[in-house]
Amino acid sequence: MLAVERIPCLQDNYVWLLRSGAGNGIAVVDPAEAGPVEAALARHGLRLTHIFNTHHHGDHVGANLALKAKYGTAIVGPRADQARIPGIDVALADGETYTFDGEVATVLDVPGHTRGHIAFWFAGSAALFCGDTLFALGCGRMFEGTAPQMWRSLAKIRALPDATQVYCAHEYTQSNAKFAVSVDPDNTELRTRAATIDRQRAAGEATVPSLLGLEKRTNPFLRADDAGLAHRMGLSETQPAAVFGALRAAKDVFR
Ligand code: ZN
Ligand code: FE
Repeated sequence: MLAVERIPCLQDNYVWLLRSGAGNGIAVVDPAEAGPVEAALARHGLRLTHIFNTHHHGDHVGANLALKAKYGTAIVGPRADQARIPGIDVALADGETYTFDGEVATVLDVPGHTRGHIAFWFAGSAALFCGDTLFALGCGRMFEGTAPQMWRSLAKIRALPDATQVYCAHEYTQSNAKFAVSVDPDNTELRTRAATIDRQRAAGEATVPSLLGLEKRTNPFLRADDAGLAHRMGLSETQPAAVFGALRAAKDVFR
């Protein structure tokens, strides 16, 4: 079973520190910057053995080379984008597995935010590291993909068990909640969740990770095939990719 620790980086990034306790394996997911990661490792007296990268953006691979030079870290990332992952050693694609200190990660190809984006699903620990694909109450912008592609990626994540903890890479939840309530105002569980998030943020608490089951019921970007939400967007639930595209476009300009 993985133990996961949150390392806040940059403005609103979360880097995740993973240890299984079985061996000497210590990993981080998407190291945005070296300083806070090195400080967390030093605090525990740990050496970094693995980096898992979900995609090529600078706020996810920024510390790859510095950490690799310091610790000799192995870097695991997406095969479809290996040319854009600094220092990559192991390139993986959809359905392949990678064993980290006895814990098996299954790779999901989830293109849309970038064309080579992957997620790491540790089924035995009910943990999903999904980078900038799914956020708490939101999803990533489509920089390199299309709405049908991103919807397929999110549907793949939605098929995972409700008890999965979603470890996304940013604290965007409060602004995501405002948009979610604006498009799905009759969803009482969403409204209750939004109020909880306001209280958490006012107290300076993190809102990530979140439970996938809760995301399925409250995150509009996982509900593009919900009839009520589709009709509110002026579309039919029989065309969820179009509903998803309309939601994403509305969020892009939402203030
Ligand atoms: Zn990104
Ligand atoms: Fe990011």
